[in-house]
Amino acid sequence: MRADKVAGMARIAVIGAGVGAMAAAARLAVAGHRVAVYERTETYGGALRRVERDGFSFDTGPGLLPLPAVYRDLFLKTGREPLEECVGLVQVDPSSHHVFADGTHVSLPNASRAGVVSALAESLGPVAARRWGDFLVRAREAWDRSRRPLLEEPLWPNWQVLAEREPYPAVPHKRLLRTRTAGTLAEVGAWELRDPRLAALLESHALALGLDPRVTPASAAVLPYMEHAFGTWYVRGGMRELARAVYERCLARRVEFRFGAEATGVLEKDGRAAGLELADGSVAEADLVVAGVPPEMLDRLSRGTRVRGADAVPARRGAASRVTVLLALRGGRPQGTPHRTVVHAEDRRAELESLFGAPGGLPARPTVTVLRPDDPALVPDTGHEAVTVTSVVPAGTGEGVDTHAERLITVAERAVPGLRDRLVHREVRTPADIAGETGAEGGAVPAPALAAAGGRLLHPSNSTELPGLFTVGGWSHPGGGLPHAGMSGALVAGLIVEGPEFRGSQ
Ligand SMILES: Cc1cc2nc3c(=O)[nH]c(=O)nc-3n(C[C@H](O)[C@H](O)[C@H](O)COP(=O)(O)OP(=O)(O)OC[C@H]3O[C@@H](n4cnc5c(N)ncnc54)[C@H](O)[C@@H]3O)c2cc1C
Repeated sequence: MRADKVAGMARIAVIGAGVGAMAAAARLAVAGHRVAVYERTETYGGALRRVERDGFSFDTGPGLLPLPAVYRDLFLKTGREPLEECVGLVQVDPSSHHVFADGTHVSLPNASRAGVVSALAESLGPVAARRWGDFLVRAREAWDRSRRPLLEEPLWPNWQVLAEREPYPAVPHKRLLRTRTAGTLAEVGAWELRDPRLAALLESHALALGLDPRVTPASAAVLPYMEHAFGTWYVRGGMRELARAVYERCLARRVEFRFGAEATGVLEKDGRAAGLELADGSVAEADLVVAGVPPEMLDRLSRGTRVRGADAVPARRGAASRVTVLLALRGGRPQGTPHRTVVHAEDRRAELESLFGAPGGLPARPTVTVLRPDDPALVPDTGHEAVTVTSVVPAGTGEGVDTHAERLITVAERAVPGLRDRLVHREVRTPADIAGETGAEGGAVPAPALAAAGGRLLHPSNSTELPGLFTVGGWSHPGGGLPHAGMSGALVAGLIVEGPEFRGSQ
């Protein structure tokens, strides 16, 4: 891995206007560099899009923001107005509502371990609540062990340590006369939580990111921990407002944007990245290139030049995408409605087999996330409601999407009674729509980096083998999701400004 510190002002070409790339661009501009972003579509934000129709407005990408600290830091380091002055950030409470297969319901309060445990005690009983509380203590240990290398620092050159070491302190468990410890999330659920509802709660955190809990390492325990410890946030006006604020911060720092400008190649000169070739045949010379694009796009751009060393973490090709149904409803949002409800599948084994078996397909009874934001900006008046309903599907799914969307609505009726009778209009968003917005093959959505599992869930480092070329965004370390992609921007800026010895800024 090579990365080189740049002396003085450099011209930096950034490929893609996803949030990770824009976070890097703003930080690099503040460090005194001349930064230009080349985006193939006509707008910024990548996955953070919005659909507007008849006074209704819907997010089509992520609907919630975990760990806003990452964006607070970005705004602090790049200007005077803090994040809270640029967007309306609200903590979502309850953080989530769960409807389990057996009909049990539970609302989990935001950012309160004690509150979560007492809510579980009330719905699932004291034994289950205690098991979840004990699990969170172990999950915290996994978080403390992996937070720096898997969120806050550039990927370690000896990343194999992360691939091999499981940070989750699983409880030894006697099974068939042998003592075993859980290695996967599903085993944590079955052996430590020992309640199908708690197992569903745990597994839903991986599933929502397109990960199969049966093979996802126990280290994924950090996912529910992060939610319980740091809370879940919504951005008023919709999540695209976050992308708008980052874009405007870039403009304020004199980052230039060229939309409708698809990069088709990374120029190389004297063994270094030296700029971009664009689809219109023009060339943009630069001293450094930062690519915020999916792996197959990076392959195309580098045209056979080896950008990853033989001992690098292999690029993750995404396997999972999403189908989302945007529902415009007549009738206002009842007071006290949870922002997010997860309706769990009746038969999770069958669901996982359909989604992740070979060949992957669409489950008959999927786990469905229903988002009902309390936000007047999303509706024409208080007599209407904007709801989004999502499930994970295999990347590339095209056939059967309409039938699947119908299933999602049917499942969502368990969270929104009378939904079909209230329908004004609906729109289905498919993996092909996501592919159009991000450039990722099959509309694949990257998951955050996780430890263990032989490194299968790590993402390649932000530095590459080609001096002067860096990678940013959800397909690079530390992986997908808003906080992780935002951190990748901080890491790339650190590697460029401080050089390869940069070890993270936190
Ligand atoms: C439906 C959906 C739901 C999601 N839900 C969640 C969630 O619940 N939790 C979570 O943590 N994350 C979620 N994500 C993922 C999250 O949105 C992303 O990881 C995050 O936005 C970071 O994106 P990024 O910076 O990698 O850029 P992206 O959003 O991937 O954008 C890449 C940009 O690069 C541009 N580009 C690509 N190739 C080129 C080229 N050759 N030349 C010029 N420009 C190019 C694209 O047009 C695009 O604008 C979801 C994503 C989607 C689509």
